[in-house]
Amino acid sequence: MKRIYLSSPHMSGNEQKYIQEAFDLNWIAPLGNNVNGLEKDLAEYNSIEDAAVVNSGTAAIHLALRLLNVREKDTVFCSSLTFVASANPILYQGANPVFIDSELDTWNMSPQALKTALTEAEEEGNLPKAVIIVNLYGQSAKIDELVSICNSYDVPVIEDAAESLGSSYKGKKSGTFGRFGVFSFNGNKIITTSGGGALVSNDEEALKDARFLATQARDQAVHYQHSESGYNYRMSNIVAGIGRGQMEVLDERVSQRRSIFARYYEAFNDVPGMNFQPELEGSISNRWLTALTIDPQITGVSRHQIVEKLNENNIEARPVWKPMHLQPLFEGVKYYSHEEENSVSDYLFEYGLCLPSGSNMSVEDQERVIEHIKMLLPRS
Ligand SMILES: *Cc1c(COP(=O)(O)O)cnc(C)c1O
Repeated sequence: MKRIYLSSPHMSGNEQKYIQEAFDLNWIAPLGNNVNGLEKDLAEYNSIEDAAVVNSGTAAIHLALRLLNVREKDTVFCSSLTFVASANPILYQGANPVFIDSELDTWNMSPQALKTALTEAEEEGNLPKAVIIVNLYGQSAKIDELVSICNSYDVPVIEDAAESLGSSYKGKKSGTFGRFGVFSFNGNKIITTSGGGALVSNDEEALKDARFLATQARDQAVHYQHSESGYNYRMSNIVAGIGRGQMEVLDERVSQRRSIFARYYEAFNDVPGMNFQPELEGSISNRWLTALTIDPQITGVSRHQIVEKLNENNIEARPVWKPMHLQPLFEGVKYYSHEEENSVSDYLFEYGLCLPSGSNMSVEDQERVIEHIKMLLPRS
């Protein structure tokens, strides 16, 4: 039986046309038509002023922190329930992360916990330089509430939309709500360039600075002069060609992932103790990964048993992200839970499961996954 992956690359077929164009023009590097084209495609798709493409989503988050002048000993708030790439750039800057819990309506940052954290930070005279808000598995956070809380403290928002490209909230594209938005084109994301990312913003001046920092911060001079430290973060023109081919099918990929979600939902929504990640009213999730919780007391089977059984049958399934406040890397870091004595991200980590959700999965592949899970469910 062939392996079914959580989320594997799914090409449109047009990627090579753009790559060929780069070869024909010998525009292999630096930058070039595909880089400019992909930046334009992204800005247009998301109805935002500007996009700068870079070699990873992590690099885009790092640039956003640099642009917000995050330095050593500064504080940056970040969602706890996320992939480590959201938080690593805080460490690159020598700053101190503070992690914020999730709420159950979206699985994303709890406005209540954020409010508590900001109130305390203000009392201590140590407001964060930025708040990184993650949209998990494609679902937008309660972004209006979160941004309005941050605005009342004058703290800028970085929207980590690495997993939510193509999603929307109240009719506006995910990733466009903060001062900066971040997308990822890593191999497992909804579209991929094999590796890459983007920083988007309505602040075109800031994105000019981002491009400057991403190309070794070269001053205007023929003799290679530098006044500050930069990075080699720009996307290659070949890789950007893949991105252009992928942008052509982004909306199709969103509907494919949503259909996959719908089939899992149909199969398991009635099973007591199984609860799918909700879609907040007014938002549309790209359903990058179908995620659900399984309460073993009620369902009679544990998340762990399902992961094992699927893996034995050559099907990749995984627990939801391990929250940052539980990571050895961040031992001792401050954490604000949703309520006192109620950490929602701990709960989601303990019971949460991600099912294979790649847009290139066939209906038969998905039935194979569903059948293996059904075999574990107690007969009623
Ligand atoms: C994938 C991901 C990133 C990082 O993107 P890369 O392109 O892999 O560097 C950041 N944040 C989240 C939430 C992600 O899932």
